[in-house]
Amino acid sequence: MSEQAAGAAPLLAAHGIRKSFGDHEVLRGVDLTVRRGRVVAVIGPSGSGKTTLLRSLNGLETPDGGRLDLDGGPALDFSRPVPKATRLALRDRSAMVFQHHNLFPHRTVLQNVTEGPVQVRRVPRRQADERALALLERVGLAEKRDAYPRELSGGQQQRVGIVRALALQPDLLLFDEPTSALDPELVGEVLTVMKELAEEGWTMVVVTHELQFAREVADEVLFMDRGVVVEQGPPRQVFTAPREERTKRFLHRIL
Ligand code: ADP
Repeated sequence: MSEQAAGAAPLLAAHGIRKSFGDHEVLRGVDLTVRRGRVVAVIGPSGSGKTTLLRSLNGLETPDGGRLDLDGGPALDFSRPVPKATRLALRDRSAMVFQHHNLFPHRTVLQNVTEGPVQVRRVPRRQADERALALLERVGLAEKRDAYPRELSGGQQQRVGIVRALALQPDLLLFDEPTSALDPELVGEVLTVMKELAEEGWTMVVVTHELQFAREVADEVLFMDRGVVVEQGPPRQVFTAPREERTKRFLHRIL
């Protein structure tokens, strides 16, 4: 962790986030602080609430309780109804990369990337095209600008998914298991792009099963189980000297 990152101001702070689906309490009071320029990896068993937490951070899910504070933006208190405009303001600050890339199949790569900026953010078409091409260039996909998603490999599709998120110029990038639907030989190219983004100073929250990636790239690792954060800290601590029995058991099972 750089000195600069250590002193970085929180971009996002979540306090006591709770969420139930029916009578299933999926998040049971989760706290999370994401500092500017930092990478937080969220790990934990399947069903522990990682995706629901991530979706709560950008307003795709509305928590039943708790609070979200966004630097320079809205504070959301979920103990009372949150106005739609406030939720939308939250959504505008972040961009999500999904497990399945969710690209529009009948649109070209370039159209997929520019859709959000042009339609949602009202960026002029030419400017959106230029920016999209520069981003595609960066991930080595500029020559695929007119290809359709089905003509790309899974790894290329997911890299376009990342570019689409970057094109929105968010403050915060959220990744929901971005490599878990990929064939093993395609995982590396996506993780490489994510690592570069981290090195460039993007603020990222990454739900992942790629523990090696979390170890190398994350500034902080958060281990969740059954809707609570069991343990969090720098990767070196969580992976090599976990304090909690549940963390030890999880790591033992998957390492
Ligand atoms: P993880 O990402 O750790 O696998 P999730 O957040 O996806 O966990 O899911 C946590 C639990 O919440 C799971 O039991 C899942 O079935 C349930 N869940 C998630 N989304 C919904 C939903 N929209 N409706 C009902 N149950 C849901």
